[in-house]
Amino acid sequence: MKNTTPETENLYPKLLTSLDHPEVLLAATEVGEELGCSIYLVGGPVRDFFLGRRLKDLDLVVEEKADAAAKALARKLSGRIKSHSPFGTFKIVYSGGEVDLAMARRETYPAPAALPRVEPASIDEDLHRRDFTANAMAVALSGPRRGRLLDPFSGLADLREGVLRVLHLDSFVDDPTRIFRAGRYAVRFGWALAEETLQALGRAYRTQAPLRLSPARILGEIKRILEEPDPENVLRCLEIMGLWLALELPPPPEHFSSLWPILRRNLPTRTLLKGMIIALAHGESYLLLRLGLQPGEAERYSRSWEELCRHSPELTRASSPSRRYRVLETYPPEIICAYFLHYKELEYIAKEYFKLKNISLEISGKDLKRELGLTPGPLLGRILKEVFYARLDGRVKNREDELRLARELLAREG
Ligand code: ATP
Repeated sequence: MKNTTPETENLYPKLLTSLDHPEVLLAATEVGEELGCSIYLVGGPVRDFFLGRRLKDLDLVVEEKADAAAKALARKLSGRIKSHSPFGTFKIVYSGGEVDLAMARRETYPAPAALPRVEPASIDEDLHRRDFTANAMAVALSGPRRGRLLDPFSGLADLREGVLRVLHLDSFVDDPTRIFRAGRYAVRFGWALAEETLQALGRAYRTQAPLRLSPARILGEIKRILEEPDPENVLRCLEIMGLWLALELPPPPEHFSSLWPILRRNLPTRTLLKGMIIALAHGESYLLLRLGLQPGEAERYSRSWEELCRHSPELTRASSPSRRYRVLETYPPEIICAYFLHYKELEYIAKEYFKLKNISLEISGKDLKRELGLTPGPLLGRILKEVFYARLDGRVKNREDELRLARELLAREG
């Protein structure tokens, strides 16, 4: 075969052996041959294959007949089309995972940072609309080029060199979310920004393109940063690249590396996302709006943030775990998360807080009713709470201790 290197020879069988579910590629090839259309594996999976990484969900592109190809592929995999868009993109789910299949497209940008206009096109044009050279490669699974690598921008050479290169100098003006993507890839793969990428950044900043990004798109990008293995360094990298300045945002909070695993273990993704946004916005409501929160939410969080910051001295001066816990327990988890992300020096309190949160009493209201004759009401609630705080401080250690303290408290209440 012409135009191959040892790396790109026998690409199709090599791809098959690198997949946990090779049946997807085999099925796509069959669909392409049966319908007489060319189907390609594109973007991330091709990049990850050459990097020797495990391939996650696959991205396929088809020239023409996207609708028929998606239906046929879903049928062959005994899966179903989970969602599709008017632009000819389909998500297929099957027992081995998900496959994205899209019609090959051309994209034009009516204005900087606006969503693109999409039209059907060839695979070559489809590769031209992509973000970086290493993501602009495809392997033909069917059709006349079957088994061949399409690499119009020498993405494989850049990937080998560890360089992140834009396809053209207006790339970030057209779509500033690509700057976020650059930060993620640079950190995830340890890649350097090519000279053209730096020039493209300069162009985007001179034209203030990032400022035109909608809050929803910024929110989407922050979400993707949090999915990265090392979000802290991505934020730092984007700061060095000048993105926060270009977005007129303050620098991200400093070093949360030791705290991040704790927060990740203890808080759901939704809470982490909001917590991160509040920390990035330093709790300012206009910045919270800019980062994609809804007006009511932004107002609420901003007030709550201010209040917690005002109570900071109480927290740091508190003499026992329960006193610290009392200050924090009245705030929403998003605010607590943001607060810990923001104030690195409070790391010891954060660690303690999440330990305390897992503590619960061995006695319940029912026990107090049975053993002390208490009826449900404010007194019972107050006693339970006091016993709980005592447990946080280690002053009671088991059920007997808890009941004894409850009795003492009741006697004191008269
Ligand atoms: P990841 O490993 O982060 O999922 P991916 O490369 O699979 O990386 P996706 O966001 O799933 O990334 O996008 C799939 C492909 O679509 C990318 O590889 C890239 O070629 C292209 N792409 C995605 N977003 C953009 C964009 N904003 N501009 C240009 N091309 C894009």
